Amino acid sequence: MVETVAGRLALVRARIAEAARAAGRAPDQIRLVAVSKKKSAERVREAYEAGQRDFGENYVQEFVAKARELADLPDIRWHMIGHLQTNKVKHVLKVASMVQTVDRVRLAQELGKRAEAEDKRVAVLVELNVGGEVSKTGGSVEQAAQLVQEVRAQRGLELRGLMTVPPFELEPKQVAVHFRRLRELANQFRVTELSMGMSHDFEVAIEHGATMVRVGTAIFGPRDSLC
Ligand SMILES: *Cc1c(COP(=O)(O)O)cnc(C)c1O
Repeated sequence: MVETVAGRLALVRARIAEAARAAGRAPDQIRLVAVSKKKSAERVREAYEAGQRDFGENYVQEFVAKARELADLPDIRWHMIGHLQTNKVKHVLKVASMVQTVDRVRLAQELGKRAEAEDKRVAVLVELNVGGEVSKTGGSVEQAAQLVQEVRAQRGLELRGLMTVPPFELEPKQVAVHFRRLRELANQFRVTELSMGMSHDFEVAIEHGATMVRVGTAIFGPRDSLC
């Protein structure tokens, strides 16, 4: 078993490249976001030293503290991938280079208003629930067009694409249904980024067009303790 962050990162990168080739895609079309929630700044630094630049965080307080601790890494890119409350938007804007979880009109407005006030243009993804009632997060497919329109109306926001966290499926065929659905919606809205796929299913996501995969446990190990 590979024991180090650098070693596991290399394995994940090799698997991404292999999945890309199998799908007839160039490996550099897929960006790896290393999900570091509940992992210490030291582990993030290890991954950074092994060449990783994109990191995903879920919890605002932990996110901001970690980003501060790692402020000496100038070209690190932080992605907000957790549920975002409107009253925490200002904190996230200080550190995130992309917000992947814009799942409601109210949040798009708040984020847009604050970004504009700070003369910023923040890259965002609209998070959609393509798994129906089983999925816990994301805007509904029915409301997707309205949400996309609202994001596009905000001068402080730049819509890059869509993101989804499908219900946990063991069968690749079943999870593929959700990934295909997200890709169809991205085509419909004419956006290019597709953030989908986690440790257990990123290869399936790449087969179905993911441009970003969000991988935590396969890089940092289980999240049962902060280390
Ligand atoms: C935790 C998390 C991930 C990473 O999950 P792993 O199974 O550890 O790879 C990806 N995306 C989101 C939105 C998450 O919350």
